[in-house]
Amino acid sequence: MEGKLNVQTENIFPVIKKFLYSDHEIFLRELISNAVDATQKLKTLSTRGDFKGELGDLTIDVKIDSKKKTLTVSDRGIGMTADEVEKYINQIAFSGVTDFMEKYKDSHEPLIGHFGLGFYSAFMVSDKVEIFTKSWKDEPAQHWSCEGNPEFSMEEDKKHTDRGTDIVLHIADDCKEFLEEGTILQLLKKYCRFMPVAIRFGEESVWVDSETECDKDGKPKRVEKKQPRIINDPDPAWKKSPSSLTDEDYKKFYHELFPMNFEEPLFQIHLNVDYPFNLTGILYFPKVRKTIDPNRNKIQLYCNQVFVTDQVEGVVPDYLMLLHGVLDSPDIPLNVSRSYLQSDGNVKKISQHISKKVADKLEEMSKKKEGEEKSALEDKWDDIKIFVQYGMLTDEKFCERAMKFYLLKGVDGTYYTLDSYREKIKALQTDKDKTVCYLYASNAEEEHAYIEKAKAKGYDVLLMDSPLESHFINLLEQKIEKTRFVRVDSDTVEKLIPHDDAIPEKLSKEEKEKLQPIIEGEIDKQKFTVQLESLEESDAPMQVTQSEFMRRYREMAQTSGGGMGFYGELPESYNLVVNINHPLISRVLNETDTEKQKELVHQLTDLALLANGLLKGEALSKFLQRSVEMI
Ligand code: ADP
Repeated sequence: MEGKLNVQTENIFPVIKKFLYSDHEIFLRELISNAVDATQKLKTLSTRGDFKGELGDLTIDVKIDSKKKTLTVSDRGIGMTADEVEKYINQIAFSGVTDFMEKYKDSHEPLIGHFGLGFYSAFMVSDKVEIFTKSWKDEPAQHWSCEGNPEFSMEEDKKHTDRGTDIVLHIADDCKEFLEEGTILQLLKKYCRFMPVAIRFGEESVWVDSETECDKDGKPKRVEKKQPRIINDPDPAWKKSPSSLTDEDYKKFYHELFPMNFEEPLFQIHLNVDYPFNLTGILYFPKVRKTIDPNRNKIQLYCNQVFVTDQVEGVVPDYLMLLHGVLDSPDIPLNVSRSYLQSDGNVKKISQHISKKVADKLEEMSKKKEGEEKSALEDKWDDIKIFVQYGMLTDEKFCERAMKFYLLKGVDGTYYTLDSYREKIKALQTDKDKTVCYLYASNAEEEHAYIEKAKAKGYDVLLMDSPLESHFINLLEQKIEKTRFVRVDSDTVEKLIPHDDAIPEKLSKEEKEKLQPIIEGEIDKQKFTVQLESLEESDAPMQVTQSEFMRRYREMAQTSGGGMGFYGELPESYNLVVNINHPLISRVLNETDTEKQKELVHQLTDLALLANGLLKGEALSKFLQRSVEMI
C-alpha cells in the first residue's frame, strides 16, 4: 500500500530538521521512550493475563551499522498491527507534528527539546525511516517506510516473525556523528541512564579470572572478556522505598549520578509523594562553605525515568538549586516554555512541597537524640548554614519554618536556637530601651581584643562570618522584635549596650574643647572621627571603633551588586574614641611642651590602632622606635 500523510505543506520535513537543529539529539530519547512504553505495556498485558505467551528477554537493543549507515532501535514490546500503524503513526503521531509546527512556527523559544515530538523526530537526522513491527496479537508483521516527504509505503512483511518493533534510521549525510559509537553512547548515558527497561548497546570489557590459564604463583590469570554493554540502571535508588536503602546506598547512588564529584554529600532527603501530584526523587546536601556554587546544574529532572533537563530554574526555588540530586515527576509539563513553567500551578505546588520537606528534614535533625551530645544539625551546621540563610532570605515560608531550628554559634563554638539564645542573654544584654543586643564578631582573630572586653563584662559574643551575614542580620532584626545586632568593635564596650548609669565626666566643657583639636591635629581626619567619651578610668585611653550601620551597609552593597551603590562607594571610616576620664588623657591636656604632647598623642593613637590590627608598615616601625626611646 502507498499513501500520503495528511499535511498542508509539502516540505514539513526539512522544516522539522532545521527548526530543531540545536536539539536534534533528542530523537534518540523519543525512540527509546517509545520502545520502553511498548515493553511496559506488554508486561502489563502479561500480568493482567491478556497476554499468555513467553515474555522472553525484553532488553532493548540499539545498533549501528556503519556500512548501511543505519541506526536501529529494537524492542520486544507490544508491536503494532497494520491498523495501529495507520492510526498511531500515519494519523495521530503525524497530527502531533502538525500541531507542534502550528504552535511554534512564530516562536523563538529555544526550549523545543522539551517538546515530545515523538516518533517523527527521527526525521531530524534521517533521510529515510523504516518501521518493522509485529503485534503481540496474531496478525502479520508490517513494514512501513518513509523518505522524509509526505509519501509513505506500507506492506506486509513475511520475513519478520518476532514480536516487537525495529525502527531503522537511514542517517543523513550531514548527521554522520550519529553513526559513531562514542556519540550514541554519550546520548544514551545522558537521556536513558535510568530508563526502566534494560538497554543494550555495543560491548564492554571486564576483567575476570581465567578458567584455563594460571600465572606464576598458580593463581588464575586475569583476562579481558567482552560482554554486551547495558547502558542503564533500570531500578534507580529514587524509585525504591526509603526503608530499603542504607546511607551507603544513598552515597553510592550519589556517585553514580555525579561521577565527577568526589566529595561525599552530607545527608539527603528522599521524596515520595503520590497525592495531589506525583513526585519522587532524592536531594542531597553538599557542603556549602564560603561561596555559593555558581555551577547550578546539579539537579536532574526526569519524567518517568526519562531524562528531561538539568536546568531546573522555575521548578525548584532558587536556594534549593544549591542541592544536588534527581526529581522525577510526570506532572511537570515538559513541553512548554520556562516562563509558563514558572506560573504553572502544579510546578508551584511541587516547589512548595520540596521546600517544606527540606524544612521538615532540618527541623527533625535539630532534635537531639537521647544520649547524644550534639544534634545532627549542629554537627553539619557550618556546612549548610549559608544554604539555610539563603533560603530564609529568599523564601518567606521557609523562613518562618527555619526560625524554629536556625542555629546561632558563639565564638566558643556553642550552638543555640534563636529562642534559647535570647533567654541566655536577656538579663545582661538588654539596653535601656528594652532592646536585646546581640553582640557578634565577623572574625574571632581580628576582633579578639573587643571580644575579650565584652566577655569581661559578662556578655556573650556570636560568630557571624558567612558572606550573607549582613543581609541575614537585617532579616533577623525585622523578624524578632526588640532586637539589635552590634558587632563588638562598633563601639566601646560600655556603649555597645547602653544602660542608664552614666559615668561622671572628669573634664569640663572648656577642657574638652581644648582637647579635641590637639588630638585631631595628629590624625588623618578623612579616616577618623574623634569622639570624646566618658568611660571608666580603667578602660583604655583611646580605642578605634567602626560604626555598625555604616559597615553593615557597605558590606551589603558589596554583596548585592547594584541597587545599593551609594553605600558601596563609602570610604572605610573609623571612630577614635578618647576616654576623657583616663589619667593619660589629662596628661595630654596638661602637657606644656608641644613636642612632648604630640609624641604622647601619637603613642596613644598608635596603641589603639595596634589593638585593631590597623597599624602597619612605616607607621608600625616608627611606633616601635618611639616606644624604645620613651622607655
Ligand atoms: P507518543 O509516544 O507521544 O504517543 P509518538 O509519535 O512517539 O507519540 O508515537 C505515537 C504512537 O505510536 C505511540 O503512542 C505508540 O502507540 C506507537 N508507537 C511508537 N513507537 C512504538 C513502538 N516501538 N512499539 C509500539 N508502538 C509504538
